[in-house]
Amino acid sequence: MAARAGRAGRVIRAGAGTSRGMGAGNGGWDYGGARQDMVEIKNDEALDAMREAGRVVARCLAAAREAAAPGVSLIELDKAAHDVIRKAGATSPFLNYHPSFAPTPFPAVICASVNDTIVHGIPDGYVLRDGDLVSIDCGATLDGWTGDAATSFIVGTPRPADLLLIGTAEKALAAGIAAAVPGARIGDISNAIGSIGRSARYGIPSGFGGHGIGRQMHEDPHVPNEGRPGRGLRLRPGLALAIEPMLMAGGGDEFGVAPDGWALRTTDGSRAAHVEHSVAITDSGPRILTLQ
Ligand code: MG
Ligand code: MG
Repeated sequence: MAARAGRAGRVIRAGAGTSRGMGAGNGGWDYGGARQDMVEIKNDEALDAMREAGRVVARCLAAAREAAAPGVSLIELDKAAHDVIRKAGATSPFLNYHPSFAPTPFPAVICASVNDTIVHGIPDGYVLRDGDLVSIDCGATLDGWTGDAATSFIVGTPRPADLLLIGTAEKALAAGIAAAVPGARIGDISNAIGSIGRSARYGIPSGFGGHGIGRQMHEDPHVPNEGRPGRGLRLRPGLALAIEPMLMAGGGDEFGVAPDGWALRTTDGSRAAHVEHSVAITDSGPRILTLQ
């Protein structure tokens, strides 16, 4: 699930001030008071646990994608993902999630965003049709650690323009992940994503983007999908981020919120793609946590 930017610029170096990492082995993390001013640095054990949560997420996405076909409703995709979560002994961080921007708790374990819906579509009785562009976003919490990932695909017969849009979003994600190395900054990830989206003349919805991830689905820092290189929080080993490009085919940046208060839609009616991985910064390079 995408995070809304709300604390732009409030990036505090891990280990500074009142923040504390997990390196001491106490596994402790003070959520009281000033957590929003901190980023958590995870140790190897925590990242291994996040990898297992991420595996469940990847299996959920695969199950939802496998279930998707013309004539199948979005609720059925949600059921397929929920089965995977239950069988894994995991829980859903999406179900009943109630961030400040939403009027009601989220009622499902996946977001299912079709065609002009960018992100946060609530799976409902909509029946998929040949050629629909579907973005599925899913999270899972296992043993106290969370993974978050998303994929976009076409149901049935693809249109070349849709394949290009999805392919470009995937390229932007790969570039964002490649930039997630120790010593780089959040702005390097943002710039890598945004440059690819803009070169292809797609729109980018500002205000929603990636985020830190760990025990909670949405942790600091915010990871914008566009930005200046060399700016923002410096990346260090043990930082885990959900990186999630969203691109709008029409080229404009305007989007609106659906009447349900959750789904974001393109204003021009053009299609949108959304892809995401949870990634850890490590000394040996980016470690993707949400692969099968
Ligand atoms: Mg997500
Ligand atoms: Mg996310």
